[in-house]
Amino acid sequence: MSTVTRPTVRTVLGDLAPEQLGVCDAHDHLFFRSAMLPGQELDDEDAALTEVRDFAAAGGQAIVQWTPHGLGRRAELLPGISTSTGVSIVAATGMHRAEHYPEGFVDGVGSRLAEIFVAELTVGIGNSSVRAGAIKVAGGFHVLDAHARFVMHAAAEAHHTTGAPIAVHHEHGSAADAVLDLLVGELAVPPSSVILGHLNRSPDHRAHLDLAERGAWLAFDGPSRANHTTDPWLLDCLAALVDKGYGDRLLVGGDTTTARARAATGEGPGIPYLLTHLRPRIRRHLGAEVAAAIFEANPARAFATEWQG
Ligand SMILES: [Zn+2]
Repeated sequence: MSTVTRPTVRTVLGDLAPEQLGVCDAHDHLFFRSAMLPGQELDDEDAALTEVRDFAAAGGQAIVQWTPHGLGRRAELLPGISTSTGVSIVAATGMHRAEHYPEGFVDGVGSRLAEIFVAELTVGIGNSSVRAGAIKVAGGFHVLDAHARFVMHAAAEAHHTTGAPIAVHHEHGSAADAVLDLLVGELAVPPSSVILGHLNRSPDHRAHLDLAERGAWLAFDGPSRANHTTDPWLLDCLAALVDKGYGDRLLVGGDTTTARARAATGEGPGIPYLLTHLRPRIRRHLGAEVAAAIFEANPARAFATEWQG
């Protein structure tokens, strides 16, 4: 007898039917520690809790944390934050660009990368039983270096074992075409399992249309201090894709990566701003249907998969 599996979103509290995900910040960070951002670590549990509570008060129901392996995800804290706020949280495994890690970390992980990804997706992160629901990887500036290619090979292997979606950081928004050539063209990951992030950092509408045509998810983030120069282009980027009929594959997130960017304890605008300010503007300029797709229907489909294991 065969069992019928249906796609679910793997949250830190367990697998969720996609229609239960609700209003979602598709790319953000509650905890993040990078060697590139000394003194700006996101590691304050109370601040994370306040930020998520304020997001919930603004109507938020789900957050996808794109912090990968080794960068201070604090996975053990995520179920408690999710339970006390009622906001679903999806954690990630995966690996960032090498410069985010302390010296020697990347070499230390070496050939065990795919194995680590699979374990974090199916068993738990670290010593916890909190499972990741996505694999975060990172490209390079216009081309993929050896580290990026190595990590993407491991991510594709983990995808084929588990079904997990792959979420991609693009350096200055570039090289998404090279990422699809590798993940989809060479490594046979379906484009519907690939989420291309930070595309606002390279607001090239024709390039975005080419990516949409290839069937991947397109994720835009901001406003944030780190993405400030991209803020004025965000609505135009979304509009260009909506005009061509791709409103059904767009995602938006806050991508809060530093304590300073947090609303609760920094200067903001932080995670709640997505719903208090950005969503009303998307509604006004692109329509309520597009806003509902971006914040609800699209993330529910992008992060849902038929999990194996
Ligand atoms: Zn991010």
